Amino acid sequence: MNLEQLVRKNVWEMKPYSSARDEFKGEASVYLDANENPLNDKYNRYPDPLQWKLKEKIAQVKGVNPEKIFLGNGSDEPIDLVIRIFCEPRIDNIVAIDPTYGMYQVCANVNDVEYRKVLLNENFNFKADELLKNTDEKTKIIFLCSPNNPTGNLLDTKEIEKTLESFDGIVVVDEAYIDFASEATWLTRLHKYPNLIILQTFSKAWGLAAVRLGMAFASPEIIKLFNKVKYPYNVNILTQNFVNDELDKLALRKEWIQILLNGRDYLKEELSKLPFVEKIYPTDANFLLVKVDDANSLYKQLAGKGVIVRNRNTVSLCVGCLRITVGTDEENKKLIETLQNI
Ligand SMILES: *Cc1c(COP(=O)(O)O)cnc(C)c1O
Repeated sequence: MNLEQLVRKNVWEMKPYSSARDEFKGEASVYLDANENPLNDKYNRYPDPLQWKLKEKIAQVKGVNPEKIFLGNGSDEPIDLVIRIFCEPRIDNIVAIDPTYGMYQVCANVNDVEYRKVLLNENFNFKADELLKNTDEKTKIIFLCSPNNPTGNLLDTKEIEKTLESFDGIVVVDEAYIDFASEATWLTRLHKYPNLIILQTFSKAWGLAAVRLGMAFASPEIIKLFNKVKYPYNVNILTQNFVNDELDKLALRKEWIQILLNGRDYLKEELSKLPFVEKIYPTDANFLLVKVDDANSLYKQLAGKGVIVRNRNTVSLCVGCLRITVGTDEENKKLIETLQNI
């Protein structure tokens, strides 16, 4: 892979914005370099644009070098940035599995980049050859999501491997749900694939969706490109400090994951007893994709009783399906009781 050939020319050649916080690094007693107001101590100073303190801590938890980490305003930021870095609008294209997370296509559309969907098979898995057949010399990115949303399954390791080895563009593997999965993260193999970008997030297993922090892991060369294109202060100090403290609660997070996996088992068992449930798809995430006899009607009836699930009836391969997130024990019970009384 030749990174320079892959990156948009304007991005490769541009000089990034240099902020006051970039220019002077170190300790001083008087800071008069950033036009800040000195009178509101604690929140008056611009935060570290590269969030080094937080990255060091994440690096420890994830076993990755901090230079291989990009932090963004949710995963949605690196999804948008990767398209802006690599894809020339109206010229380059993106290939992705279908169905999958909707933001890849939305960001492609916003950036005026062609988005090619390759339908998964009936087991919601894919063949690398099938994806690669849909690429051409203008394909810059392949998006994979494992465990996939809304299907819940892990993608086949061998096929991801083959994609990484055969495609000389960027392969993004979105691991938003990896903490609930029975297989290991791709992080341990990051060093083997210079074209791999792994996305993870604090929004799911960490229980911090409101805080907005997403991670991208890639080679230091790719991370440098992200840093070049991002807004200078894309992660605010409240988020940086808060997540820094949350990272100490590793044991609690493990407990949460176990509670949610137990809840998932409970839902699987109880849902399978309902006469209108036709199929519960295997899942490695904190949600279940469930095929029912009439998804639209069931969705409305549930909503009428204050229980909201996601109607996926119009999504490819998901006709008749509802996507149900695992809740608290109480919420799961309420869902099942409501369904039993329909
Ligand atoms: C929920 C989810 C995310 C998380 O997005 P954030 O912007 O980090 O909240 C990313 N990818 C997938 C596939 C998701 O389902």
